[in-house]
Amino acid sequence: MSFSSLVQDLSFRDNANERRAVNRGNSSASTMDDRRSQVSRAMSYASTTATSVSISGDISSQLHGGYCHPLARSWQAERQLTKSMLIFPLFVSDIDDEEVSIPSLPDQHRRGINKLVPYLEPLVRKGLKSVILFGVPMAAGAKDALGTAADDPKGPVIAAIRLLRQRFPQLFIVADVCLCEYTSHGHCGILKDDGSLNNALSVDRISDVAIAYAQAGAHCVAPSDMNDGRIRAIKLKLIEEGIAHRVVLMSYAAKFSGCLYGPFRDAAGSVPSFGDRKCYQLPPGGRGLARRAIRRDIDEGADVIMVKPASQYLDIISDAKDIGRDMPIAAYQVSGEFAMIHAGAKAGVFDLKTMALESTEGILRAGATIVVSYFTPQFLDWLES
Ligand SMILES: [Zn+2]
Repeated sequence: MSFSSLVQDLSFRDNANERRAVNRGNSSASTMDDRRSQVSRAMSYASTTATSVSISGDISSQLHGGYCHPLARSWQAERQLTKSMLIFPLFVSDIDDEEVSIPSLPDQHRRGINKLVPYLEPLVRKGLKSVILFGVPMAAGAKDALGTAADDPKGPVIAAIRLLRQRFPQLFIVADVCLCEYTSHGHCGILKDDGSLNNALSVDRISDVAIAYAQAGAHCVAPSDMNDGRIRAIKLKLIEEGIAHRVVLMSYAAKFSGCLYGPFRDAAGSVPSFGDRKCYQLPPGGRGLARRAIRRDIDEGADVIMVKPASQYLDIISDAKDIGRDMPIAAYQVSGEFAMIHAGAKAGVFDLKTMALESTEGILRAGATIVVSYFTPQFLDWLES
């Protein structure tokens, strides 16, 4: 019963009572007082009834109104995806005219230097802000124990940095820094005789490679090798070279070992020839270790902290945002995550776009402010609509 019909009903009953009272000889003044008090009680009753019928709790239980509209729903997010948050990974090979699709990484290609600009032109027009470059040496004899080709001035990464800086002056160029694409053994540094990483030599070599990329014009160098102490070494060399003021140092601080990198290794040709990377990448359960690595890399001079992979490590992204609350936090939605979303959509489990957006929203909600994503070309379209 609505409030107005309830009052009407009680008024009708009041009138009937009044008629009976007059018949019994009561005064009309006391009847009017009685009627006013009945209406007042009705209002109070109606209010109490409506509240208790429609709300089974206090007023704070009523939330639906706050997100009844699409715009109001978007206001619920602490941060919303924008084009500026996205970094797009590119695989650049030393075969200049190559454009080869990567079977395990849907819609992604390995490209030679001559194919980069035609591919990127429409994306830059749509608002692509940043790319991260991974070099893929394909030439026979390009790999050796020291990863010599990593900073070859004619190699694919340095050539691509120079070309993209010239052709797309507004595009922010990140250079991934590691040796595993360039070493004959496929590990992320220089090895000792027993097959373990020689940390001192690896750090020295990797910091040289980072400086070469920075001097070629990279806006940002991003060491992904996980050798201890490489952030400090790179920062010091950037200072020594007088270029620390114009280069962002993005640390893959919390990079976990696991099975989500398979398609990337197909793309980059960086599968280790023996063993695995479990002694330098973090163990999946190592939350405390990740926090220590994040703290260390901040102390060593990192400007941006990255967590990789993303969706399986949302707690680590949240930790990174907590520890590095004054820093940008990047998350890399890696090749295996991307391939899984494609596979799920292909199997009819969910819609590709909906899951791409939902997974990215989860990454942002956890605390990331930068997302390295193979979905970047689609996001440039999706964010327009
Ligand atoms: Zn590596």
